Amino acid sequence: MISPALVARLRKHLGDEGVITEPARKRTYEMDGLTGYREEPGLVVLPRTTEEVSAVARSCFEVGVPLVPRGAGTGLSGGAMPRRDGVLVSLSRMRAIISVDPVRALAIVEPGVTNLAISQAAAPYGLYYAPDPSSQVVCSIGGNVAENSGGAHCLKYGFTTHHVPALEVVLADGEVVTLGSPCLTAPVLDAPGYDLRGVFVGSEGTLGIATKVACRLLRRPEAVRTLVADFASPTSAGDAVTAIIGNGIIPAAVEMLDSLAIEACEEATGAGYTRGAGAALVVELDGAADGLDELYTRVERLCLQCGARKIRRAATEAERAAIWKGRKAAFAAMGRLAPAYFVQDGVIPRTRLGEVLTRIADMAAEAQLRVANVFHAGDGNLHPLVLYDPAAGEEARAEALSRGIAELCVDYGGSITGEHGVGVDKACSMPKMFSEDDLEVMLRVGRAFDPHNRCNPDKLFPTPRLCGEHPGPYRPHPLEAAGLIERF
Ligand SMILES: Cc1cc2nc3c(=O)[nH]c(=O)nc-3n(C[C@H](O)[C@H](O)[C@H](O)COP(=O)(O)OP(=O)(O)OC[C@H]3O[C@@H](n4cnc5c(N)ncnc54)[C@H](O)[C@@H]3O)c2cc1C
Repeated sequence: MISPALVARLRKHLGDEGVITEPARKRTYEMDGLTGYREEPGLVVLPRTTEEVSAVARSCFEVGVPLVPRGAGTGLSGGAMPRRDGVLVSLSRMRAIISVDPVRALAIVEPGVTNLAISQAAAPYGLYYAPDPSSQVVCSIGGNVAENSGGAHCLKYGFTTHHVPALEVVLADGEVVTLGSPCLTAPVLDAPGYDLRGVFVGSEGTLGIATKVACRLLRRPEAVRTLVADFASPTSAGDAVTAIIGNGIIPAAVEMLDSLAIEACEEATGAGYTRGAGAALVVELDGAADGLDELYTRVERLCLQCGARKIRRAATEAERAAIWKGRKAAFAAMGRLAPAYFVQDGVIPRTRLGEVLTRIADMAAEAQLRVANVFHAGDGNLHPLVLYDPAAGEEARAEALSRGIAELCVDYGGSITGEHGVGVDKACSMPKMFSEDDLEVMLRVGRAFDPHNRCNPDKLFPTPRLCGEHPGPYRPHPLEAAGLIERF
């Protein structure tokens, strides 16, 4: 579907090694971390510079071919799923850490740099990059920006959007723009005017391709205390989360694992969680050494008041690392329990954790499936993992249960996604959260960046192709009816 003329033009810009046409090699890019959605890309390109990304965008724009940006492909909502009629732009060769400035506490990096590499580059200065998705060893900062990624420590420190003051972006027609503060080129952090940078963060590749990212760096905390508290049930662990935060304590992280998740993590990593506990809370406190032990004692007391049966404090850095290794390996560890699983990513008010977890357990029992829960409890950001066996024909039931859980979160006053994004996976659930007017406003904002809908089309918003016209929540959108956006 991609014309030989376009392939030749792109080869001229990127060289032969920057353009992949062979079906077997293209299939490496056919999906991201969301299994179940796959498509062979029309073409894959691997630019090395902003100029090359711009040349790719301009070349595709002129012949009406859509672009799909891709970082490391760890996304869990199908955001980087390619199109057969489109060009997949892999940023994996743009991995330079351009600068680390300890005085401004700022790193400027290319989009393919991994999240963890930024902290590693900043470490010699006693600095680090705070947002820490569990996938941080592999996921790219470009993907983090596109998804507004979170992580265990975002409860205290905020999400990606709070840590990227400026972006260089290639728009769909190849124009290169800077969004946010002028800090990419000048020593200024504040930017007057509309926060277009804020609009771009979390836009899931639908507004353009980030080619440079400015990352704020924080000073490493002087001291850290980490504990694991065991509870009889997720409900009492949820009560402890409410009590800790309700008492004005904002831990660096509060993570919860239920009994199934504990089982899987222990099996996979031997991190020292108590097998058989109904739930475990990982609570981390950080800050100035002075006063941290008193705060720790208050947290311990609140956990005990909410029914904690055992509290273990990480006595050494190695013990702390083991606790986090177990938590961060939780998704991968599910392979110990079932051949396949769907990861859900709903958000609920954290005061309703107990209620919602009970409801999820009921829904799982009705569907005769198991659901493990491991999540950012402090943010109310649930990650129910619906376990299933494709060979036993359980996939459709598991998918329906997973979708039902996302929509349950909305019913409880929450959201269909906390950090993994909408992508193709949740596009059809957007009308559950937003009215037609809301969606229209978002589309109009999108069209201001990308008037012809060439950047990652079919993601984020419901379309007839994804959601079907009847039945279901989708109705032709007013912008579509007015001919302002394309029908697919
Ligand atoms: C085991 C595991 C654990 C995870 N844990 C977390 C977690 O704790 N927190 C969390 O938030 N997420 C988590 N994720 C999800 C995922 O890692 C994040 O969404 C991550 O930010 C995706 O980065 P990526 O480089 O892999 O992006 P990709 O998957 O390649 O792409 C994701 C989206 O970003 C767009 N995109 C990529 N690069 C660019 C760019 N340069 N410019 C514009 N758009 C771009 C793509 O089009 C797509 O829409 C986890 C995933 C896995 C597999």
